[in-house]
Amino acid sequence: MIIMRPEATDREITEVVRETTKYGLRADVTRGASTVINLVGDQNKVPFSHLAVLPGVKEAMMVDTPYRLISREYAGYYDQEMRRRVIEINDVSIGGDEPVYIAGPCAVESRQQLFKIAEGVKKAGAHILRGGIFKPRMSVHSFQGLGANGREQAEEALSWLREAGDRYGLPVITEVRGESQVDMVAEYVDIIQIGTRNMYDQDLISAVARKKKPVLYKRHFGAGIEEFLSFAEYIAAEGNRDIILRERGILPLGKGRNYTRYTLDVAAIPVLMKETYLPVIADPSHGTGRSDLIFDMSCAAIAAGAGGLIIETHYNPEESPVDSQQMITPDELKELIDTCRRIRGIIASTRK
Ligand code: PEP
Ligand code: MN
Repeated sequence: MIIMRPEATDREITEVVRETTKYGLRADVTRGASTVINLVGDQNKVPFSHLAVLPGVKEAMMVDTPYRLISREYAGYYDQEMRRRVIEINDVSIGGDEPVYIAGPCAVESRQQLFKIAEGVKKAGAHILRGGIFKPRMSVHSFQGLGANGREQAEEALSWLREAGDRYGLPVITEVRGESQVDMVAEYVDIIQIGTRNMYDQDLISAVARKKKPVLYKRHFGAGIEEFLSFAEYIAAEGNRDIILRERGILPLGKGRNYTRYTLDVAAIPVLMKETYLPVIADPSHGTGRSDLIFDMSCAAIAAGAGGLIIETHYNPEESPVDSQQMITPDELKELIDTCRRIRGIIASTRK
């Protein structure tokens, strides 16, 4: 990390960047009270003592946090005021004072199904609409999402998502599972999701990040927090800081029944918020796999400081070809959002 003197000229900054790129490194330049140049790439290649004495350089330091671009600690060097990153999409703020509520079906099934759910979640108080078109499924013999039926159907489903979002004033999210889907999906949605199984796919992460749209990035169910953040750093390394971290449950332990599909790691929420300045949301649907636990886990996540929730919602959960056991109805969603707002209000007033 190279910290420039406050009076460093543009020319001096450009010169440092030029020097670093000579060594096959990329320079991530953030202008604040002092300009900070973060070097991205193989750190063994950094000509440390050479860079430290270039004109305009105040300090060059080795940073060993693998996720320095998104870390709260290092953001302090270029932006003392930066306590959090707020991502704005139309009139929705993600990472602001109020939690953001994201809802919608696990999978888009039809235009009519999607519009009906979009209307329901909007009335319930949700801010953003979700809907899967390319579904990650364990069995090849199960419903794979409309995206599996070829490009034409995928685009049609994406256009419904866009239309439903526009009709009800809800930004939209869908998941991409492979690099070949990225260009197409980015044309229709406001936020691109990378699912739990792809948390480690560096090429997919970088391709999505380069679209310069907000990325909803899910923790792998077996990933430690440092690992999760280290891979999230690949998004930031493309110059995209619009990253929403999503805790979606980790693998339950031991033998025998655990009674939940995954274990929602509630403690990860404040930890991620301490480690980074990024918005952190919780996914009690995948995090428990049980509709009867969604309300309680939503309250817990919001009390723990989550910047929002994503809840699988369907007017008739039983009808859903995917994840039907972990969905709630729009009416239940309304009650959940109303309660979470009250909880957040209490916590906010006691912390002040
Ligand atoms: C989803 O959010 O639709 C999804 C498939 O979740 P996960 O990647 O956590 O399984
Ligand atoms: Mn699902």
